[in-house]
Amino acid sequence: MQNRILASELPEHLGQSVVVAGWLHRLRDMAKFGFAIVRDRSGLMQVVLTAEQLEQLKGLQVETVIKVTGEVVKKQSKPGGAGPGSAGDPSAYEVEIQATTLEILSPVRDVVPVEVNNDSVDVHLDTLLDNRVVTLRNPKQRAIFRVQAALVHGFRSFMEGQGFTEIFFPVLAGAASEGGAEFFRVEYYGREATLTQSAQLYKQITMGVYEGVYGVSYSFRAEKFATSRHLTEFNQLEFEVGFVDSMEDVMVYGESATRAMLGAVENECKTELALLGVTLPPLGERFPRIKLQEALEIYKEGTGIDETSEPDLSPAAEKWLSTVWAPKEHGTGFIFITHYPETKRPFYVALDPEDPSLTLSFDLIGFGSEIVSGGMRINRYDEQIERIKAKGLKPEEFEDYLMMHKYGIPPEGGWGMGLQRLTQNVLGLANIKEATLFPRDVQRLRP
Ligand code: ATP
Repeated sequence: MQNRILASELPEHLGQSVVVAGWLHRLRDMAKFGFAIVRDRSGLMQVVLTAEQLEQLKGLQVETVIKVTGEVVKKQSKPGGAGPGSAGDPSAYEVEIQATTLEILSPVRDVVPVEVNNDSVDVHLDTLLDNRVVTLRNPKQRAIFRVQAALVHGFRSFMEGQGFTEIFFPVLAGAASEGGAEFFRVEYYGREATLTQSAQLYKQITMGVYEGVYGVSYSFRAEKFATSRHLTEFNQLEFEVGFVDSMEDVMVYGESATRAMLGAVENECKTELALLGVTLPPLGERFPRIKLQEALEIYKEGTGIDETSEPDLSPAAEKWLSTVWAPKEHGTGFIFITHYPETKRPFYVALDPEDPSLTLSFDLIGFGSEIVSGGMRINRYDEQIERIKAKGLKPEEFEDYLMMHKYGIPPEGGWGMGLQRLTQNVLGLANIKEATLFPRDVQRLRP
């Protein structure tokens, strides 16, 4: 739209005639004149309407899309009165527009099913998601996904800075050779295909060419139960890097990427963070690295709960370690937990030469729960075949995968970070679905 300016730009245009456009967020009819709060992608603005312009809006509802021409003036009305009433949007309080013309671009005649013009959308999660088409318009709701986009932006910039190559992973694959009920099967020209659970194979193959690769993958898991941290479709921020000396190198890349991502949120999302009332959690000097066994001991000592014979951390232990112990001891909510038992890790994860019952693998726990899985991979052909067999799988079903080992790949490692999980934890949201634009779960396939 020619000459259109945004709400956030209004103060720079004081005294000038401008064109703005957006959604009618709220309307106050004072008979002889009125206040329209108009929302665009940058925030809210106040428009003073004449009686004739109010007449144009008769019979129309909030969310009607309008275009206004008018003069930007110092705001006459009291903040909080007819004002946008939106924390984190201070510019909107300073100026307003005296409308000269009002154009209706898209009239809304039906009442919107859920009120989206309040501070937050206080409805049941299912109602929020059923009506996502409109509830996403609420400033707090849309802020969540601006933060998510900034996390991805930070990841991408960091990886580009390392000289890594971005990869676009396929989502359709042949029948699942790893088996398992948690795959989604798809009818594919008379045969069975599956939706990828992870981009592991493609990351490793491309790492074997570009040395450092990254990308945003889609993972599909036929999870059986609804939990507050599992979806059936989610994204992972992936990287894979070759010619590393040890698992520590992989963790250093990952830690630096995480810091860059939160840095991007800090820089790009000041308004959104203020609106959501979120202070980014402290990162500390260095994320601690602790072996799983040691972490279980720390959990036992700190809480009296003995899970030391378990092969993994329970959700409660993840929570305590990352929200109580690590902030207190290390000034951060991120912890690398390393050396998971070989029984708990897939066939491609390298074994610890010092104790082959353990793997050179890690999880990153961040502010409440696991957000990353990563580690060193097996890069030698014979070793990989042996490991596939030891896991009870058939090497002949991994031909494409093993081809890269056969023809040479460097020592390497990588990670996969759950994007929605990370967003949930960083923003302190109770359910992962709040951090997912269009969540899919056992029940939900719409909108
Ligand atoms: P969990 O133990 O939490 O079920 P996982 O060990 O199966 O996860 P990985 O396969 O290691 O997970 O996946 C890497 C990352 O992807 C996890 O750290 C998490 O952030 C995210 N993730 C895994 N499963 C899901 C899911 N069902 N929904 C959303 N995110 C997920």
